[in-house]
Amino acid sequence: MRKKIVAGNWKMNNTLDEGLKLTSEIVNMVSDEVRGDVHIVLAPPFIHLTQVKKLISGVDKVYLGAQNCNDNAQGAYTGEVSAAMLASVGAEYVIIGHSERREYFNENHKQLAQKVDLALENNLTPIFCCGESLEVRENGLYKEYVCNQIGDSLFHLHDDKFSKIVIAYEPIWAIGTGKTASSDQAQEMHATIREFIAERYGGEISENMSILYGGSCKPDNAKELFACKDVDGGLIGGASLKSRDFTDIIKSF
Ligand code: PGA
Repeated sequence: MRKKIVAGNWKMNNTLDEGLKLTSEIVNMVSDEVRGDVHIVLAPPFIHLTQVKKLISGVDKVYLGAQNCNDNAQGAYTGEVSAAMLASVGAEYVIIGHSERREYFNENHKQLAQKVDLALENNLTPIFCCGESLEVRENGLYKEYVCNQIGDSLFHLHDDKFSKIVIAYEPIWAIGTGKTASSDQAQEMHATIREFIAERYGGEISENMSILYGGSCKPDNAKELFACKDVDGGLIGGASLKSRDFTDIIKSF
């Protein structure tokens, strides 16, 4: 069964106090009625994980996510955090391959494949991000570009592992810009991703896969985006920092 997921990627925002306040507000606002069958993931900075976990433990369908993990299992990598460490503090999801990490930290598909492997070995669900720049969108090769990102970092996985992945399609030109993809643009790309996965893994796995949209998703456009047949939720940046906006997005399903 395809899961509906709304994940909040806080990026490098919020002190601990601010993060805990935001978490408490979200927990108080998402009653069973609001949440329905939507799975909510909060992805705060590493340093908040343990305390955010305390506030959400026991709250139905609210999960802890991290924004990244290292591509090595352990060792002399000063300042880095491993997938095993994330699992040990109760994380259930980890965002892998966000465009900001690909761009500012030069992450390549080989490293992303290693991160995905380590995440899965530690029972974390990878939220694997893909998406094209404006330049690629305008030259018309965006479908091939995004499918290659997925193939290059994920298609080494066997069926049982691959079926645990969540994909987030995030066109770079829409991230933090206030310029969201139209529902037609989102649906077109999500359907393309699903077909591409079906060719490699078959219809059942591809139909059960959750594919999230990310990029300036807000309360006023979430309903239209989530109504698309192949859009199973959102990866929310800016609007996840305000409890009202984030819960309004959850209610848009
Ligand atoms: P945004 O970010 O909602 O602020 O555009 C989305 C993301 O980067 O995950």
